[in-house]
Amino acid sequence: MLGLMQDWPLLCHKILDHAATQHGRREIVSRSVEGPITRTTYADAHLRARKVAMMLEREGYAPGDRIATLAWNTARHLEAWYGIMGMGGVYHTLNPRLFPEQIAWIMNHAEDKALFVDLTFMPLVEKIAPQVKSLKQVIVLTDGQHMPETALDNVVAYEDWIAQADGDYRWKTLDENAACGMCYTSGTTGDPKGVVYSHRSNVLHAMIAVQPDAMGLSSRDVILPVVPMFHANAWGLAQSAPMIGAKLVMPGGKMDGPSIYELLDTEKVTFTAAVPTVWLMLLQHLEETGKKLPHLKKVVIGGSACPRAMTRKFQDNYDVEVIHAWGMTEMSPLGSLGTIKPEYADLEGDARLDIQEKQGFAPFGVEMKVTDDDNVARPWDGKTFGRLKVRGPAVAKGYYGGAGTDQFDEEGWFDTGDVAHIDPNGYMQITDRAKDVIKSGGEWISTIDLENLAVGHPDVAEAAVIGIRHPKWDERPLLVVVPKKDREPAKDDILGYMEGKVAKWWMPNDVVFVDEIPHTATGKIQKTTLRDQFRDYTLPD
Ligand code: AMP
Repeated sequence: MLGLMQDWPLLCHKILDHAATQHGRREIVSRSVEGPITRTTYADAHLRARKVAMMLEREGYAPGDRIATLAWNTARHLEAWYGIMGMGGVYHTLNPRLFPEQIAWIMNHAEDKALFVDLTFMPLVEKIAPQVKSLKQVIVLTDGQHMPETALDNVVAYEDWIAQADGDYRWKTLDENAACGMCYTSGTTGDPKGVVYSHRSNVLHAMIAVQPDAMGLSSRDVILPVVPMFHANAWGLAQSAPMIGAKLVMPGGKMDGPSIYELLDTEKVTFTAAVPTVWLMLLQHLEETGKKLPHLKKVVIGGSACPRAMTRKFQDNYDVEVIHAWGMTEMSPLGSLGTIKPEYADLEGDARLDIQEKQGFAPFGVEMKVTDDDNVARPWDGKTFGRLKVRGPAVAKGYYGGAGTDQFDEEGWFDTGDVAHIDPNGYMQITDRAKDVIKSGGEWISTIDLENLAVGHPDVAEAAVIGIRHPKWDERPLLVVVPKKDREPAKDDILGYMEGKVAKWWMPNDVVFVDEIPHTATGKIQKTTLRDQFRDYTLPD
């Protein structure tokens, strides 16, 4: 017997319909690429997205076509996404921090037909476009006045282009399982792999994200997604913010401390999200200027481990709640969030920070387990590590074109490549990437635990730990440190600080100081490059 409830396909453009109907006057504020702060509303975005859809159809694009975007977080980028999805197209976000050859490779693999691009990236596009055979048109996210000179064919200014349509458009009626978006994983080894989101998965993901024990968002929030739309869908905020009708503040291309502070302050932002490196810059700016954060209530920190010292500063010095989150492009991306369950509600000080250092628990819609290499589940005891595996309606079941099949098993579990443990209350803690974990004398040492500890030292700005070959133990940890500005910490001082806080056999065998640690295009420490850099390094006896 079937239920007698309506078929109401979960389609992304219904999110924007809802935002325009219920929250039409709510603002979308953007730091435009041209410079000034601009203001539109959900009602404006709704109309302009339909103009985008109309124009795409008029130009001959069809449902299923991949339409790339190479752009910062702005209202225009958001409208383009919804316009693409609403005509049945598939938005494909490109990460401008990748090498041009990688971007061209990805575009060719996805067979992108059109590209929406910010002015910032025109020089990059001039290099890439001739290498992408499928590409028919470039739409520059600006107006006619700001259009740059270009040698490329078939380039239009977005504002002039959408001005040709009146926006009287009915969204395509689609199967909720139709593809709506695409994002390639950064691929530190091997070729990048394409994750293909569906309308259904994005809508469900947004519903998961807004829950009180996830991001906890409402129409009363003012949301600043610093995390770019090209990094795992801005962690879903481009869908969850309009779903609940929150004011959106889009940072454009400026993510330095003063620029982010300006938006937090002038727009009275209550909720923001980004990787730790962004927050390092903001905290440094606050410390230098003595400024406070009176409006901000919550910050979600993820993408790489959130150092304990960062959580402490936000909470103790600025009265901002930190939610440590973990996720992956393959998970749309949210996998777990560190809100506080009643079991931990009474904890204070360091005991509370111990819990917040974990990556949190899986919300409804994400199943999680840790297993050994033979796929046998490990206990949830908060210390036994294993390979972290997940499944759920917003988790990938394969990659575009059939790559990486070995990461998916027949029961639908996706092997994340992360190593973690889960405690009896369901809180998961990442201890490493499977590729980075240090194997010393047959036991595993967590590089993330050591890094978290080292950045707690007052003179350390950033730290990375890598395994160095060792004749007796196989591998031993080397701690690589970027000191804070104008500080010169001594090696023994840092080791002394760490001693007693981790098992003795985990202690790094040496510390080296560098000016900079290499990062990937999504802001993670690039361990492969770091290992190459220290390939010939020998540990002291
Ligand atoms: P991406 O798909 O680029 O978002 O990268 C996903 C990977 O980032 C995960 O598999 C983790 O290795 C890492 N990651 C994301 N969030 C965290 C976190 N909070 N702590 C530690 N690692 C994280």
